[in-house]
Amino acid sequence: MKIGILSRGPNLYSTRRLKEAAIERGHEARVVDYARLYMNITSHRPAVIFRGEKLDFDAVIPRIGTSYTFYGTAVVRQFEIMGVFPANESQAITRARDKLRSLQLLAREGVGLPVTGFAHSTKDIEGLLNIVGGAPLVIKLLEGTQGIGVVLAETNPAAESVIEAFRGLDANILVQEFIKEAGGTDIRCLVVGGRVVASMMRRAEPGEFRSNLHRGGSAEMIRITPEERSTAVRAARIMGLNIAGVDILRSNHGPLVMEVNTTPGLEGIEKATNLDIAGMIIAFLEKNTKRGRTRTRGRG
Ligand code: ADP
Ligand code: MG
Repeated sequence: MKIGILSRGPNLYSTRRLKEAAIERGHEARVVDYARLYMNITSHRPAVIFRGEKLDFDAVIPRIGTSYTFYGTAVVRQFEIMGVFPANESQAITRARDKLRSLQLLAREGVGLPVTGFAHSTKDIEGLLNIVGGAPLVIKLLEGTQGIGVVLAETNPAAESVIEAFRGLDANILVQEFIKEAGGTDIRCLVVGGRVVASMMRRAEPGEFRSNLHRGGSAEMIRITPEERSTAVRAARIMGLNIAGVDILRSNHGPLVMEVNTTPGLEGIEKATNLDIAGMIIAFLEKNTKRGRTRTRGRG
């Protein structure tokens, strides 16, 4: 197969590993910077072009950065229209990148979530705080990632000031019950093609509640419960993602999904588990790649 890896960073661990795994399994693999691609929007011969060269792949693996979601998903959509099989579809990526939308969709299907409130106006902060049972609580910037923009407010007055400050900057936020019993840990489940293929527990640095590896957290391999496994698989399916990193908090009342990532990093989980996740993603493509076989065919 000809596999295109849509990534801005050819030297990033995940990008390198995916290319390596594809070649190892006998495929042609090429890393392309999706921000440099341009397209012709036509019904006859839609194309994706790089420096005058029309690209043609059997499958693409989108590794779209969060600040490039808009253009990156347009590129993936164009490939879909051309019949190229995407590891994750453009529409699923767009859907999952919107935290509020994701939580609403997961809640609708009965997936366990931390109690979450959101509001546009700061007129009724008290009401918002009541939804999640008051402090301690977690305030999150909707556009945040890698733990940046996630704040633990220990008291209601602290929560009010932070909410007012964020809203004063016109930032969108959500307010969430603080799952204290998780003790600064969370579980990252890597879902590939409807199966959890690897999982790790991430532990925050002492004095920190955010377990993100980018925030100095550490990771170790972990055995998950059947309930955690089915929660992760369901969450990925509801978001329409073939490849997903599902983050779960262990609460007193069972697994709670915190977020579903469309472009999970491979370094932390491959090193924690010693598993060839990149190879599993390529194997998924081998099994599923077929011309025009997308749920949406680039629609919407
Ligand atoms: P980001 O998208 O920036 O990674 P997350 O929602 O994943 O934001 O939050 C970052 C980290 O903060 C999580 O990995 C987790 O350790 C901690 N965290 C987030 N929400 C909660 C919560 N409701 N209760 C306890 N810890 C939380
Ligand atoms: Mg996270």
